[in-house]
Amino acid sequence: MQDSGNNLRFIAESTLGKLAKWLRILGFDTLYEPHVPGREPVDTREGRRIFLTRTKRVAIREDSHNLIFITSNHPFDQLKEVIQALEIKAEDIQTFSRCIRCNTTIREIGRNDVQGKVPDYVWESHDTFHTCDQCRRIFWSGSHIEHSIEIIKRLIKFGSSPKGLE
Ligand SMILES: [Zn+2]
Repeated sequence: MQDSGNNLRFIAESTLGKLAKWLRILGFDTLYEPHVPGREPVDTREGRRIFLTRTKRVAIREDSHNLIFITSNHPFDQLKEVIQALEIKAEDIQTFSRCIRCNTTIREIGRNDVQGKVPDYVWESHDTFHTCDQCRRIFWSGSHIEHSIEIIKRLIKFGSSPKGLE
């Protein structure tokens, strides 16, 4: 199994579930534990992660070097804050490399292996599928998500939100 190629890793506070999901879609190793209140976790096994928080008292208390204080309410604007704070480049992004649910690396799976496991119209209209060995979910690139990823890539390239971001 190949690692996603970038080495930015995150842990998101309980209020940032949608942001965590988007970071995973973009290939970033992101822990999200809804039941854990905002606190900087030190994972000695994996080293430190960048902590994403919306809690001001946490942001003041913790080492700001490893923390991003998120101010926006909208997930895309939150993602923009992360991208700008870390100067994330297009080449740092590897879409469809990580399970949105488990945060584990996913692998490509043959088209014939997913027949009958995904809706027929999906199977007929897609060439590439990925699977997660942990939850056995099958992922494919849908038009809605493709559109969102395009917007994010433009955001990274030009540093501003194009029209249609909402
Ligand atoms: Zn999974």
